[in-house]
Amino acid sequence: MSSSSSSRIANPPSPPSSSATTTATTGVQPPPPPARFQLPNSSSSTSTPDNAEMLRSVGRDFRSDTVTIPTDRMFTEMALASRGDDVFQEDTTTADFEASIAALTGKESGLYVVSGTASNQLALRTHLAKCMPPSSVLMDSRAHIHAHEAGALAMISQATTLAIKPANGRHLTWEEDVAPNLVPDTGDIHLCPTRVVALENTLWGTIFPHEELEKISRECRSRGILMHLDGARLWNVSAKTGKSMRELCEPFDTVSLCLSKGLGAPVGSILVGPNSFTRSARHFRKLLGGGVRQIGPLVAAARVAVEDHFPKLPHTHSLASWLASQLSSLGVKLPNGEPETNMLFVDVQPLGFTNDQLNARLAEEGIKTWAPRIVVHHQIEASAVKRVVEVVVEMKGEVEREGKIREAGPYKKKGMY
Ligand SMILES: *Cc1c(COP(=O)(O)O)cnc(C)c1O
Repeated sequence: MSSSSSSRIANPPSPPSSSATTTATTGVQPPPPPARFQLPNSSSSTSTPDNAEMLRSVGRDFRSDTVTIPTDRMFTEMALASRGDDVFQEDTTTADFEASIAALTGKESGLYVVSGTASNQLALRTHLAKCMPPSSVLMDSRAHIHAHEAGALAMISQATTLAIKPANGRHLTWEEDVAPNLVPDTGDIHLCPTRVVALENTLWGTIFPHEELEKISRECRSRGILMHLDGARLWNVSAKTGKSMRELCEPFDTVSLCLSKGLGAPVGSILVGPNSFTRSARHFRKLLGGGVRQIGPLVAAARVAVEDHFPKLPHTHSLASWLASQLSSLGVKLPNGEPETNMLFVDVQPLGFTNDQLNARLAEEGIKTWAPRIVVHHQIEASAVKRVVEVVVEMKGEVEREGKIREAGPYKKKGMY
């Protein structure tokens, strides 16, 4: 009965480009597909980006390990990714990747987010939702969460930051930095109790000693204080020390890992932690506008970044070490010592010129640096690393022969990210 009644219902309209069956039965040519909508001021059909040139350009770009470009395999995998709605939690590529990273880090679950800032801020917002305000979060004064996230903690979580300068100049310690500055919840209404300690590893390319992390974690957890890690570059720690990601994440309740810095995904970070945490963080991600619908292809690109580029990090570290030792033997100071991972800090003043003059001279040949900081990423060309050394040799020679260097064109200095 139902089939006879439905057969009386006319078919819905066909899409504008007719199907092959229509052609076969009528014998007439199908109409051409509708013309593309033309956007105003658009030249996209005539200008093709020169991606080979872009790859050569990032191969000479030492400003940050975020200046990489997506690889061909990323696009292959993007085309194969599932196209489900991740807000409905119906995207298998995303769910599989989140589960893989959770397993890798020894946490219950993961949540893919669009940026490291989103990841850190969602983590803190979620942790702080569990306690009564007022709250404080303790961290290194150089921490990205404090210095480079546009004051988000105060705005989004209404918490205050205890930004501590490490006594040893390298990393926070329990005895000298955390214990004396923690604000305990004593019931004194003047105080703002510390609910979370947020550490960063690596911080400015420096590895946080694992025993110290464990000590801070043990002491904090015994006081009911939560531990968050900004592990944007934790991949580098694992690559350098040989410790597993799981072991490095163990002292923390939650960890944020960057997929775009260092590893070179076009987009994304991932936040890992307990199921109850991730469920709540997903809620905050949505309310802050970070729920992304068909995100599978971007997640597929991020998976390629982990699979293909995590194994390349040791090479970036050896290039950074090689560069540091060459520069150091020329008389360049390394204020932070030997590089531990992919970043070095230089002071060329002893050679008779400034870091900015070096930046300007390198910029003349398309080598981009923000000295004092120099960062090696997986697409840096060995020839560019060598060229940096040669330019320093040339400039040193000019000072020795003529008492000064040839001035380069103006150079505009920006921040460090
Ligand atoms: C870059 C960075 C972030 C933030 O990442 P975005 O994706 O740029 O928001 C967080 N932490 C550290 C240590 C970083 O270097």
